[in-house]
Amino acid sequence: MSNGADETQNFGPESLAVQAMGLIDPQTHAVVPPIHISTTFLRDPDNGYRSGFAYGRADNATVRELESVLKMLEHGAAALAFGSGMSAALAVFLSLPRGARVLAPNVMYWALRRWLMNEASSHGLHVCFVNMEDLGAVRTAAGAGCDLIWVETPANPLWGVVDLAGMAEIAHAAGAKLAVDSTCATPVLTQPLLLGADVVMHSASKYINGHSDVVAGILVTRAPDALWERIENMRASHGMLLGPFEAFLAMRGLRTLHVRVRAACTNALDLAHRLQAHPLIADVLYPGLDRHSGHAIALRQMKGGFGGMLSIRVRGGEAAAIAVAARVQLWKRATSLGGVESLLEHRASVEGAGTPCPDDLLRLSCGIEQVDDLFADLDNALRAGAGEAP
Ligand code: PLP
Repeated sequence: MSNGADETQNFGPESLAVQAMGLIDPQTHAVVPPIHISTTFLRDPDNGYRSGFAYGRADNATVRELESVLKMLEHGAAALAFGSGMSAALAVFLSLPRGARVLAPNVMYWALRRWLMNEASSHGLHVCFVNMEDLGAVRTAAGAGCDLIWVETPANPLWGVVDLAGMAEIAHAAGAKLAVDSTCATPVLTQPLLLGADVVMHSASKYINGHSDVVAGILVTRAPDALWERIENMRASHGMLLGPFEAFLAMRGLRTLHVRVRAACTNALDLAHRLQAHPLIADVLYPGLDRHSGHAIALRQMKGGFGGMLSIRVRGGEAAAIAVAARVQLWKRATSLGGVESLLEHRASVEGAGTPCPDDLLRLSCGIEQVDDLFADLDNALRAGAGEAP
């Protein structure tokens, strides 16, 4: 089902994503491809499977369509879609040999950090947590032996930025692979594989789907090497494949990825500037601000924006931050990120003991609503707490 690869060659990634690579159903000429739900496929008379499909646990045509767009957007050799971002990430870790040594960030998506801290050792992995913004520290840690460096950039929930080209050089010098959780950078702003990473991962539940109605994960590889083969086998044997309806919805969301991400970036930058001047906010963490520790790297590594995620530290501590979250109306008090609607969350209460997240911090996922409304809603919630009339 295609217009033919040659016809897509001269078009840019945004045009190709909008049209899902120009896929057209050959039978009906539908411009929206049908959803393939069959779990089993007719064998050829000579016992072969020339269609390339045999059973629905390993593969699915609708899932492949989503994968083909992500492979294109990330400039990879192959992509695999999973039932969640966690499932995609764990497929990488569980495909490492027993005894493998992993460097992971000390600030990262908390559920994966928790798994790496509590579960990874029972799978024979040795995990060392490092400050990924300090390349010297990473080089030293990698020099002691390393099979995989896992980074997240910008990293939840403090939005530190990792120098991916520098990190790839360190990983490869140590004989390790570099895997990047690029969920918050999105394929619009950063293409880690072009900077030397080996594998890129997305929680497609976030910007890729973009409408907070699908849980999905994506891996894209620079080369279909031995690790990738193990990941592919793991997905098939553990039944980690994304379902066809979810793949269809994610593909539908992906068609508008570029416009959504650009709108979210514009809102986030505008809000970051306004909020850093707010008397009731102690700090704003956003890579788009000049004084952010990752700003210089973000300027060269993130093309066209600094992402839709930022965090604020509310004057008055934890209770004040939770009270602000309780008072907002347009912002929705909910976990997750990357949807068209703006979400806000008190992260320390989600992450629990041992979190690197300060207790006065609210994480903001900027959606694409009118930015004046987003600011006014936060401003009202902040001022009401300080006893000022909204
Ligand atoms: N990576 C990041 C940066 C995330 O924010 C999340 C989820 O919040 C994940 C990974 C996990 O993805 P999922 O919820 O799709 O399993």
